[in-house]
Amino acid sequence: MGSLFTQMLQGNTPATGLRFQPRGQHTQLASIDRLGNVKAARPLLLSKLMAVLLLSLPLPAGAQTSNAPCKTAELPPFVNGLTQVATWVAEPAVGIDRLVENYGPQLTAYLSPAPWPDIHERARMAKVPVVMYHDILPEKEVFFDVTPAEFEEHLRLIQENGLTPISLDQLTTHLRTGLPLPEKPILLSFDDGYGGHYEYVYPLLKKYGYPGVFSIYTSKIGDNQGRSHVNWEQLRQMAADPQVTIAAHSISHPPDLRALPDDQLQQEIGESKQLLESELGIAIRYFTYPTGLYDERVSRLVREAGYLAALTMNDLDERFAGESENLLAIGRFGQSRLEDVIAQAWGGPELPKWSSGFDFTSPIERTETTIDNTPFILISGGKPITIHADSRYQVPEIVEGTEAVAAVDGGFFSLKFLDSNEMIGPVLSQNTGNFLPGTLGENRILIGRPLVMIIHQAVKFIPLDQQKNST
Ligand SMILES: [Zn+2]
Repeated sequence: MGSLFTQMLQGNTPATGLRFQPRGQHTQLASIDRLGNVKAARPLLLSKLMAVLLLSLPLPAGAQTSNAPCKTAELPPFVNGLTQVATWVAEPAVGIDRLVENYGPQLTAYLSPAPWPDIHERARMAKVPVVMYHDILPEKEVFFDVTPAEFEEHLRLIQENGLTPISLDQLTTHLRTGLPLPEKPILLSFDDGYGGHYEYVYPLLKKYGYPGVFSIYTSKIGDNQGRSHVNWEQLRQMAADPQVTIAAHSISHPPDLRALPDDQLQQEIGESKQLLESELGIAIRYFTYPTGLYDERVSRLVREAGYLAALTMNDLDERFAGESENLLAIGRFGQSRLEDVIAQAWGGPELPKWSSGFDFTSPIERTETTIDNTPFILISGGKPITIHADSRYQVPEIVEGTEAVAAVDGGFFSLKFLDSNEMIGPVLSQNTGNFLPGTLGENRILIGRPLVMIIHQAVKFIPLDQQKNST
C-alpha cells in the first residue's frame, strides 16, 4: 500500500473521537471540539495509534506463544510492543515517526491477513522448508532413522549456513499475513512421539536454542513395546517449554484417514486434541496427517475440530510451505533433503517501506479489523490537511462541505479561554495560514508532547520544542 498517512479509527468512537466519512479525496485533520473538554478530547490520533502499535508489533525471535491458550483461527498476539511503547513514553525524542516507519508496514500486514485458511500472496514467494524427522536413535533400524550424532550434524549445518529455525506459530503468521521471516528460515518437525525425541532431540534443540514441533499420536504415549515412546511426564515437560509446539497426530495413527467413516475420523482428529489439551494443559492448535494422507473431507473435519493449521507430507511432491494448497495442508520435506532446502531457504520479500515519505496521491483505503474484540478501522492514503474553524463545532460540522473522508480532533482548547476556539500550543492551520504561537505557560506544559507537522510531501510527529516550535 505504498507510503501512507494512517489514522487508526476505533469503530465505536466517543463523541470527541474520530469520524469516518467516505466522501472525497482528502483526509483532513479538524482541531475543534465544541465542548472544549480537554480530558474528553485526550484520546487523540496518537493514543489510538499507540494502542494499535501496542497490539501489533512483531514477535521477537524466540518469543513464541505456541503454548498460550488462543482461539484457533486467531493470529498469535504480538507481544513486544509494550517495551517499545514504554520507551517512547519515557523518551519521546525517540519519535513516533520512527515507530511508525519501523512498525507501520508490519502493522498493515498484520491487519490484512489472507482469509483463513488461504496463504497470503507475499508468503507464496518465500521458500520456507518444513523438515520432517521420525525416530532418532543410536542404532538405525530403517533407512529414515537418524542417529543423535547425525542429528547434531544437521543442527550444525543449519547453524553454519546462517539459517534461523522458527516455530510453527511464526510460520503460520507468516503464511497468513506475508510478514517476512528471518532471511533463511527453517522449521524442524518430529513425528510419532518416539522416546528418542525426548532423550536426544529435545536436549539438542535446547543446546542450540532452536524451536521444534512434535506430532504425537496418543495411543502410543508411554508405550515402549517395540520402539520407545515418550510418556506423559516427558511430554508435559516438553509442552511447558515455549520453544516446543505439540501437534496432534491422531489417536491410533491410521495409515490412511481417508478410508475412515466420519465418526471414526472425528474421533481420531477431535479426541486426540482433547486428550492432549486436558493432559498437557495447553491449546493444541495444529494437526499432522498420519502418513500425510488427506482429502477434502479429512481437512474439513480438521477445520471443524478447531485446528489452526495442519502439516502434511508427500514424498513425490515435497513443497516449501508457501507452495502448499492452504494452511490445512502445509507441505514438508523429508530430512534427507536437508542440504537441498538449506541452499534454497528464503524468508520472503520485504514489506513495502513507509520511510520513503508520504505519497499524497496514493488511493484512500479502508481496512476493518478486530483486535482483542475491539473493532478498528484503518484508513491509509490520501493527503492530510488541517482546518482551524472559526468557532467550536463538532467534527461532522467541520467536515461538512469539505471533501474529507476522515477526520480526527487535532488538539485541545486553551485552558485560558473557556468560550473561544483558541487552541493550546502553537497552531498553523492550512485553511487560515495564520500562525498562533500559543501561550508561554501552556506551551511549557506541552514540551516533549507530539506536534504534528504536515508539509507538501511529508507528515511528521515531533516532540514539541518550546524554543523551535513557537515562532
Ligand atoms: Zn506419523
